[in-house]
Amino acid sequence: MKYIIANWKLNGSKSLLNDFLNQFSTYNSENYIVLCPPYLLLSSADRFKAIDNFFMGSQNVSEYDNGAFTGEISAEILADNKIAHSIVGHSERRTLFAETDEKINIKIKKLLSGKITPILCIGEKLEQRETNTYKQIIDLQLEKAFKNIKVDDQTFIIAYEPIWSIGTGVIPEISQINEVHNFIRTKMKQLYPKNVNQFKILYGGSVNLKNYHSILSSKAVDGVLVGGASLDSKSFYEICNFKN
Ligand code: PEP
Repeated sequence: MKYIIANWKLNGSKSLLNDFLNQFSTYNSENYIVLCPPYLLLSSADRFKAIDNFFMGSQNVSEYDNGAFTGEISAEILADNKIAHSIVGHSERRTLFAETDEKINIKIKKLLSGKITPILCIGEKLEQRETNTYKQIIDLQLEKAFKNIKVDDQTFIIAYEPIWSIGTGVIPEISQINEVHNFIRTKMKQLYPKNVNQFKILYGGSVNLKNYHSILSSKAVDGVLVGGASLDSKSFYEICNFKN
């Protein structure tokens, strides 16, 4: 079973959501799907309830609970609307909206208090890959994201998304993906020796119809986070039907 997450970013429409509903009406793979559309479209989550292994997720969550924070959505509001997953720390939030590791840590705590599965995005910039400092960066991102976080029996999704691969069409070698995934797994084992199996490690960055099969075939890869290619219901459906 693989985890396959669609991140629509600031794209999509009611009509695309209807396409998905039609396309997935016959979905019967064991792969676990999470569709993360813009907030307004999350209100259609009920229409997908009848599809097995298909869930909706948010692209972000506020670090605040309530109050005068115009434009924010809290974990409580997500939970109240039965949205059980949320992306947190996407590189676009980090770079375009000044989201720090400290804020991401607070957001993860909010998600956990609402019993929402965090989909934490981490990954290095091109220069950090080129200067061979990517493992230090990833280590620091994980250390800070999980600071003072207690893990019970919940699932955590960690998406390794090298920034140089997001939306560029460039993907790392499978051996490079495996190396980082094994590094992340070892780190999570150090942080949470009893819970390591609860951490699902996904790859994200230019996943498409041509490359998804070889990426998902790797044992080190528990799933994929798909941006651009998730905007086409047929392509995304094919990826979701991956079988080893
Ligand atoms: C993403 O936005 O997280 C992503 C992986 O995008 P893309 O698949 O378009 O590279």
